[in-house]
This record gives sequence, structure tokens and C-alpha cells, in this order.
Amino acid sequence: LFLSFEGGDGAGKSTQMALLREHLVKERSVSEDLVLTTREPGGTPMGAQLRELVLHGDHMSPRTEALLYTADRAHHIDTVVRPHLERGGLVLADRYVDSSVAYQGAGRELEPEQVAALNLWATGGIMPHRTILLDLAPEALEERRPAESLDRLERAGRDFHRAVRKEFLGLAAAEPERFVVIDASQPRESIHAQIVDALSEELSA
Ligand code: C5P
Repeated sequence: LFLSFEGGDGAGKSTQMALLREHLVKERSVSEDLVLTTREPGGTPMGAQLRELVLHGDHMSPRTEALLYTADRAHHIDTVVRPHLERGGLVLADRYVDSSVAYQGAGRELEPEQVAALNLWATGGIMPHRTILLDLAPEALEERRPAESLDRLERAGRDFHRAVRKEFLGLAAAEPERFVVIDASQPRESIHAQIVDALSEELSA
């Protein structure tokens, strides 16, 4: 089972992934080594270098940025995600293709369809079974993150983050059977309960 978590920075993806992991291991007796929690960019040693480059490197063109994220993803799929899925494991991914379509496609004003096509090629078409979108307004995200802790992309401004949010919601509306959209302004325990509820079929399979 492949699950991805999407949403703005500070929406609570990593917290919810940790809670779901705990739920799987403690409540559903899934063996710990079968649950892989990973993230993009940076889920592999090479990915960590790409993450450093893309988040803290010099100014780069939107196409360069899109290719670096996609290179990270191709490597991550080949060396981490696919092998784990082939072993019958469960993958919880902090960001995946939808982040590229939203951030590089809508945010950086490349064509979302082109970014999606590039990613289809890079991943060999591997898509998550379900995607949890933690939706939160850019204003609320800003309140959660102190300005000095932000990286190059996070400082991009409100219009950028509005465009990203809109694209995420558009993607979710286009694929309602894959996406679970959750209002991320709620308390973390209730978000967790909604995630478990939405995934009940997949988690009991
Ligand atoms: O979620 P995480 O903190 O790992 O994201 C790192 C940064 O990369 C964030 O600023 C996020 O907005 C950005 N990002 C991006 N395009 C992607 C994935 C992440 O701009 N495809």
C-alpha cells in the first residue's frame, strides 16, 4: 500500500504520518519494518544532496527546479519506494507527484500538465493508492511557521502559496477516489481519526 501526504508547509503532514505509523504498528499489529516513512525531497542520500541544492542553492529557473525535484523522485522511487512495495510493505510518503504539480506547475507557473507528464515518465507511472491532502489557508500556515525558519521556497509569498493550495484542491476534485481532503485547522487527534476512518478499507485489507 502506497499512501502520500500532501499540503502546505506546516499543515501537519509529518505529525499525521507519525500518528498513522503508530496506529498501524500498535492497533493493527503491522510489523514495524513493513511501514516505511519517507519524504521528498530528500528520502535518499542522493536526495538529501538534491534537497540541499534545491532549497538552499542559488536562484534557479523554474524548469531547473522542476527537474531537480523530479530527479529526486525518480531516484527515490527506484531505490526506496518500489523495492519496499515489492516486498509487500506499506509506504507513507511525505509529498509526491502532486507536490510538483502544485509547487512547480501552479506555483512556479510551468504548465501543471507538463509537470505531471514529466513525473509520469520519471516514476514509471507509480502513483499512491490514496493521498491525504491536509488543507490549510496560507495565512494559517504563516502563523504556524516563524519567518526565520523558512527556506527559499517557503518565503515565496502569499500569492504563490494561494496558487499552490488551489492546485492541490483542483487535483483532489479531479480524482476524488484517490484523495482524502482534510481541514488541517482541526486538532491533530481529530485529523488522525478522520484519516484512519477514510482509509479503513485499505488498512484492513
Ligand atoms: O515538506 P518539506 O518541508 O519537505 O518541503 C520542503 C520544501 O520544498 C518546502 O518549501 C516545499 O514548499 C518545497 N517543495 C516544492 N516542490 C516540491 C516539493 C517541495 O517547492 N515538489
